[in-house]
Amino acid sequence: MMRATTGQTERETFLRSVEAHVVPVTPLMQNCTLFLCRETKQAVIVDPGGDVSLIIEALERTGAEPVAIWLTHGHFDHAGGAPALKRQLDVPILGPHANDAWLTTSITEQERTFGVFVNGEDFEPDRWLKDGEVLSFGRVRFTVRHCPGHTPGHVLFINEADRIGQFGDVLFAGSIGRTDFPRGDHELLLENIARIILPLPDDFLFIPGHGPASTVGEERRSNPFLQGLSTG
Ligand SMILES: [Zn+2]
Ligand SMILES: [Zn+2]
Repeated sequence: MMRATTGQTERETFLRSVEAHVVPVTPLMQNCTLFLCRETKQAVIVDPGGDVSLIIEALERTGAEPVAIWLTHGHFDHAGGAPALKRQLDVPILGPHANDAWLTTSITEQERTFGVFVNGEDFEPDRWLKDGEVLSFGRVRFTVRHCPGHTPGHVLFINEADRIGQFGDVLFAGSIGRTDFPRGDHELLLENIARIILPLPDDFLFIPGHGPASTVGEERRSNPFLQGLSTG
């Protein structure tokens, strides 16, 4: 996990037919991402863990028309700001998978446990997500993949056409998600990375929950946790 700095700014912008604007939020510098359809300007916000005012600023700066909030998993630094953002934008909260209900309903307890406070709120989303379903906004489509291990209800958002995705706390540049939290499962995490992520193309760009973006090819080559893992 990374330390907070003040004056957080938008770190990276990726241009494909979907734009991705990464806004690090919370003292844990969690990568909230604004995915924007370049043609229609419709947008979704993935993992608004906190610092809702920074997210609103990014929406205004890009001229995005938000249509939904998507969540990868129920940890407070990813999900804590979702209810406040929903109230401001009047859009539904989708995800994560229902197996993270115990986490979205214990955001404030998680803040106390970790001693990190994001002004989060306990909630249930408008809808839980299922493996394999396709979510769309504007002309952009993402597939939901259920990828437990870091948490039981963790999902990935995968855009095959643009070869870009949001992977939450499953895979990082040079590392993988922690599994020493309650209901973490290291073997299951590795199995799911091998089954769901490693078959993606080398130039598939992913935004992790913390730290810089990377590609599946780069991680396949150099990530020490993935060496010797076979796909499929
Ligand atoms: Zn997490
Ligand atoms: Zn995280």
